[in-house]
Amino acid sequence: MATTSDLDLVNVTKRFGSHAAVDDVTFSVAPGEFFSILGPSGCGKTTLMRMIAGFENPTSGDIRIRGKSMVGVPANRRPVNMVFQSLALFPMMNVGENVAYGLTCRGVSRSEAEERANRMLERVGLKGFGERRVTALSGGQRQRVAIARCLVLEPTLVLLDEPLGALDLKLREHMKIELKQLQATFNTTFAYITHDQSEALVMSDRIAVMNQGRFEQVGSPRELYHNPATPFVASFVGETNRWQGEVVSSSGGTVALQLPSGTVTQGTGHALQKSAVAFVRPEAVALAQSQPALRDLPNRFEGRVSAVLFDGANSSLLIDTLGFDQPVRAVLPQAGPLAGIEVGAPIHVGWTADAMKVFAA
Ligand code: ATP
Repeated sequence: MATTSDLDLVNVTKRFGSHAAVDDVTFSVAPGEFFSILGPSGCGKTTLMRMIAGFENPTSGDIRIRGKSMVGVPANRRPVNMVFQSLALFPMMNVGENVAYGLTCRGVSRSEAEERANRMLERVGLKGFGERRVTALSGGQRQRVAIARCLVLEPTLVLLDEPLGALDLKLREHMKIELKQLQATFNTTFAYITHDQSEALVMSDRIAVMNQGRFEQVGSPRELYHNPATPFVASFVGETNRWQGEVVSSSGGTVALQLPSGTVTQGTGHALQKSAVAFVRPEAVALAQSQPALRDLPNRFEGRVSAVLFDGANSSLLIDTLGFDQPVRAVLPQAGPLAGIEVGAPIHVGWTADAMKVFAA
């Protein structure tokens, strides 16, 4: 059967004893796609990767690469290469030897391997680094050597297991962009696992959010952020306000939610039960110095600034709000009368019903 995807997982389950580390997972990755699997520690990401790479066998289900089943195919016979968090470079070899190693193992002649390694080093911005010891490189350069060593083998699929995890924050920010650009330049299919939502959002074409062995939602970064399908996705991807309450009325997708204080808020949601949880992104919270300025919003409340969290470009406010047992988080405007607001100042907050996503708790 013709296939248009580089990777297909079909109802893949992996059990350790009675525990399903990966539970009935199905997805496809298109050629040239940057696909991330995002989830908290212990959700099953590594187990999933190890099955794709061939280090583990699924308990049930099928794994196909370019339409060919990989079940029973040993790791070294799969058209897949993996980049680990530790990078696993060989410290006794220089940069060029590290990159050429996989080629010589596959029977490519020494001179050809060296030439291809040098070409690859040039493409990842490390021209002239071949003779250097890997121990004499910066963290970012080592990262590029690991990618070069992987890509020189021209795999159908590159698996990356938290490759930026060991880097400091500043370098991680830089490498996120660099890795995305390298992937786009080579047009190689990447499957990337991470617990860091900002990494996944910046780099991925699509993200699968994983929780307790299952995929909760698969979508583009924007889809996940603006239209989370589950409470887990809403709270795991991006900053959000979160309130618990009871549904007091619901019709045509519009929901009235009563908070424990008795305050009623308006949101949107489907298939709800009485007990519910609601999410509002901080940037969706409108702020004003007077109530009338928010009169078009169905949700309007009075509050007082309890904290100003200055973070350079994107500062936020925490607002103790009447009727809410936790402060409302909002983005601090960069300009206008509220830009210089201080702790203790009175303020009004509001949001649309669309901005408040309500789910069964
Ligand atoms: P982390 O981000 O911390 O690496 P993860 O999402 O990659 O976590 P996995 O390492 O895949 O999670 O583990 C998923 C679950 O399966 C965990 O509960 C883990 O304890 C369990 N598990 C993983 N490998 C084994 C094994 N070989 N034997 C038994 N249980 C295992």
